Amino acid sequence: MRNKKDEKRFEASENVGLQQFHILGAAGCIGNTLGFLGNVIIYGWTVPSILCAVCALVMLVVTIWGSVSRHVLRASYIIIVMVALMEFPMLYYVYKSGTIAYMVLAIVAIANFMKKKHAFIFGTIAIAEDICTILLTYYYPVHIEPVTEINALSTTLCSFIVTMISLFLITALGSAQQRRQKERLEAMTEQLRSAADHDSLTGLYNRRYLNHYMEKIMGAAHADFYTALMDLDFFKKINDKYGHLFGDEVLIGFADIMNRYLPDDGISVRFGGEEFLLVLPQMTEEQVRDLLEKMRQDYKAFGRQKCGEDFTFSCGIERYVADMEITALFSRADDKLYQAKQKGRDCVV
Ligand code: GH3
Ligand code: MG
Ligand code: MG
Repeated sequence: MRNKKDEKRFEASENVGLQQFHILGAAGCIGNTLGFLGNVIIYGWTVPSILCAVCALVMLVVTIWGSVSRHVLRASYIIIVMVALMEFPMLYYVYKSGTIAYMVLAIVAIANFMKKKHAFIFGTIAIAEDICTILLTYYYPVHIEPVTEINALSTTLCSFIVTMISLFLITALGSAQQRRQKERLEAMTEQLRSAADHDSLTGLYNRRYLNHYMEKIMGAAHADFYTALMDLDFFKKINDKYGHLFGDEVLIGFADIMNRYLPDDGISVRFGGEEFLLVLPQMTEEQVRDLLEKMRQDYKAFGRQKCGEDFTFSCGIERYVADMEITALFSRADDKLYQAKQKGRDCVV
């Protein structure tokens, strides 16, 4: 079953397709309307002028239909096939000269808006048809419209302007969209990276990040740090008495207390369920004990404020000595934590 996050991602990718389609629809409608106006001004109400008007109208309808019904791909294929295989070759057959620019525009649209496999097929068909049209125009020209020299110049200028505006729209909007997609992708990658390194409940680092971090600091020359492994006392009772959600709040509260006293170069980690770990570089044992004492007082006060009980935790601290294995370091801290529990809890060994 798809969860809410997946649905959001799905919607986002659907929107991208829709935006692309709007670019195509806008370029098609604007281009055809300009082509129609240019035709009417240069040649008057002729067959090609009406063809441009009909195409502009059809494109408008197809664009609206595609947007409303979300049949984006189908609608964009209708628009592209209509202009690339019908309108543009016909315009060239009648006007020749500069209208060849439209054929180039059609290939750009095919390459930009069709799926790779379809773009290859339709591109090949369109190019073959364009070549046939050019040859047909040369060997069997028609004279539907009287193309004088000045008309040819106007047609060339008109098609040039329409092509340039459409190309500009396609490229500028397309690259703006690409930039947005890239930014979205970067933000998502950052979110994923952060989620992979953090515990989702408390926001502290997780074991995965801890291992990575330990390898880094243990590999450094003159590595010198303490680890403090903490376990909340009688946490099961807290859960049983006040409920699991309250237990979660306590874990979050404890994480806040850890971060309150964490030095800049240290890290706080959720080691397991109600077990936490501090890595404290460049500190003396006295400083570490002082820090843990402050945490002990704060956690007690936190419990009192939350439910009128003193909350406590037990802790084992261990200093890293050169060439120690990570597992050995953690297991020694764990032994000391166990001793703290044996001593009656609420203490540091
Ligand atoms: P001790 O003083 O010996 O450590 O006793 P304890 O009750 O704290 O330890 P125990 O290992 O018996 O119980 C730990 C409890 O922590 C059991 C488990 O349900 C709870 N726990 C682990 N993860 C979470 C969590 O994410 N949220 C909540 N609310 N409880 C959790
Ligand atoms: Mg435990
Ligand atoms: Mg416990």
